[in-house]
Amino acid sequence: MAQDIIENLIINLTKLPGIGRKTAQRLAFFILTMSSDDAKDIANAIIDVKDKARFCSICFNITDIDPCRICSNPSRDKSKICVVEEPSNVIAIERTRIFNGTYHVLLGALSPIDGITPDKLKIDELIRRISSDSVEEVILATNPNTKGEMTAQYIIELIKRFNVRATRIAYGLPIGSDIEFADEVTLSKALEGRREV
Ligand code: ZN
Repeated sequence: MAQDIIENLIINLTKLPGIGRKTAQRLAFFILTMSSDDAKDIANAIIDVKDKARFCSICFNITDIDPCRICSNPSRDKSKICVVEEPSNVIAIERTRIFNGTYHVLLGALSPIDGITPDKLKIDELIRRISSDSVEEVILATNPNTKGEMTAQYIIELIKRFNVRATRIAYGLPIGSDIEFADEVTLSKALEGRREV
């Protein structure tokens, strides 16, 4: 019986990306040695995220309150919108602590070959924000790879008709990389060195 519940945990852990049978087994036995409270914290954190996580109706970041904590924070500068591909990119930029504006999460990048056309991303929602709020700068912080570049260029063209500054984060970032994995110093420099486009 005990074997079954451990096996059940192992099988469930292998559903996570990058977790093979061996790692799952190691994690399962580690969980067995944890305090009840610690193990329950992990289980509850997973349940919480599935029950409460949703997209912010303004910026499409993942949040448990709507608007999210960034959009509803009066000390954040609403005149700056940093456009990123994924919610994980917001976390990466927030860690640098140098950006005090707001975000707009596209929930992907253009890739016509995979059927990811502009209507599949939160681009219309971005345009609506730019046309209705007093936005002064749009920082294109999409990834420095082909899809991210294409997405940035597409948005730059679209927002030309508005009276906003469009800037692109600088390339201290390695081409072809993902800003999610950039270290904080590199990402801070990329943001600080952003250029008008
Ligand atoms: Zn938000």
